[in-house]
Amino acid sequence: MRIVLLGPPGAGKGTQAKSISNKYSIPHISTGDIFRKNISEKTPLGIEAKGYIDKGHLVPDSLTIDLVKDTLSQEFCKNGFLLDGFPRTVAQAEALKEFLKENGTDLDVALLIDVPQNFILERMTGRRVCTSCGASYHIKFNPPSVDGKCDVCGNDVVQRKDDTEATVKERLDVYDSQTQPLINYYDAEGLLKTVDGTKAINEVFESICNILGSDK
Ligand SMILES: [Zn+2]
Repeated sequence: MRIVLLGPPGAGKGTQAKSISNKYSIPHISTGDIFRKNISEKTPLGIEAKGYIDKGHLVPDSLTIDLVKDTLSQEFCKNGFLLDGFPRTVAQAEALKEFLKENGTDLDVALLIDVPQNFILERMTGRRVCTSCGASYHIKFNPPSVDGKCDVCGNDVVQRKDDTEATVKERLDVYDSQTQPLINYYDAEGLLKTVDGTKAINEVFESICNILGSDK
């Protein structure tokens, strides 16, 4: 089973990826992990990537593609994979398609966990975290019993900078403008399947399993 996983930040992609990876016995390949692994193992591609990152530059598309191809060529990806964070552009999607074709395979599905912006905004901007012990809360779904105070240690419970409405909105806008062309691309390829990510975690996973079927 060869899967590309798409979905906005805050859609619960990581959780679903773990469950899919377990159930279908395929490795969860995230581009973040690929970069970290190659950089820490000082592979030629990792050294090249580190050169860009150290200078504060973006890693070029071509290098990211090479890193992904290198990973997918390894034995542990032979029977399939779940790609997370790649492709990010239509050019990357085309490179992936070409690579799989050369190897006599193809993607089975591009799986989109769809969650509307306002839903994610509510989820993420409602997060609060204890400044002392790190306990996490949500003002709507899991509020502390005393407003603004941690249930565990009594210290102040605050909103992280990453969770403010402006920051979250900006990330979601970037995601939308990046991902919409990809969604259109996979739709045109006939590979796009969408699940409603606003449901409970286990319901979302059930919808995913219905799409993927029982085969491996
Ligand atoms: Zn605390």
